[in-house]
Amino acid sequence: MLEIFLKKKYFYPNQYKKTIYEIDFSYLKEQGIEYIFIDLDNTLISYDENHPSKEIKNLINKIKDLNLKVVIISNNKKTRVKSFSDNINCDYIFSAKKPFRSGFKRALKLLGNPNPEKVCLIGDQFLTDVLGGKKMGFYVIVVDAIKRKSEKWYTKLNRRLEKKVLNRLKKTDRQFYDKLHLEEKR
Ligand SMILES: [Mg+2]
Repeated sequence: MLEIFLKKKYFYPNQYKKTIYEIDFSYLKEQGIEYIFIDLDNTLISYDENHPSKEIKNLINKIKDLNLKVVIISNNKKTRVKSFSDNINCDYIFSAKKPFRSGFKRALKLLGNPNPEKVCLIGDQFLTDVLGGKKMGFYVIVVDAIKRKSEKWYTKLNRRLEKKVLNRLKKTDRQFYDKLHLEEKR
C-alpha cells in the first residue's frame, strides 16, 4: 500500500516555509497564482484553538488585497470550518477528504473551474495536503505544523506513514530531504 504513496513527484512541495507568515504572496501572484487554498488545522490554528488571531486576520486581508482569492479547505467538520471561515470572510470546503480529489474539485467548482495551475495549496501534512495538492496539479507550499501535541489519533497515524515516506525519500533523494529541514521539526 505504501507504494502508491511513494511516487516521489507527488511529495515534492514547491516551497517549504516554517510558518504561513513567511510566504511571499506577491511572488505567488507574479507566478500566475490566482487562488490560495489553505488548510485549517495546524496550518492556520492548532486543534485546540477555534478562532483566527489578529495576525491571521491581517494576513488574510493582505492576501485579499493582492486580489488573490482565499478558500479554506479542511478535512474537519462543518461547524469548525464554517465558523472560522465566516470570521475571516472566506469560502470554505469542509470534510474535504484530502488527499482524495473530491474536496479539491468542490473548491474548483465553487470558483468556476479555473486551471489548477492557478491554485496554490498551503498545508502542513505530506499525506493529505502535499500528496493531494500535487496530484491535482496545484502549486504546493508545506509549512511546519503549529502544534502536534493536540493532533487527533488519525492525524498521528498519518504522521507515522508520513515519517516512513520521508525516510524513504531521505535514502533516495538526500538533497530534497535536506531542503525540508525535517530534523529541526521532529
Ligand atoms: Mg493540517
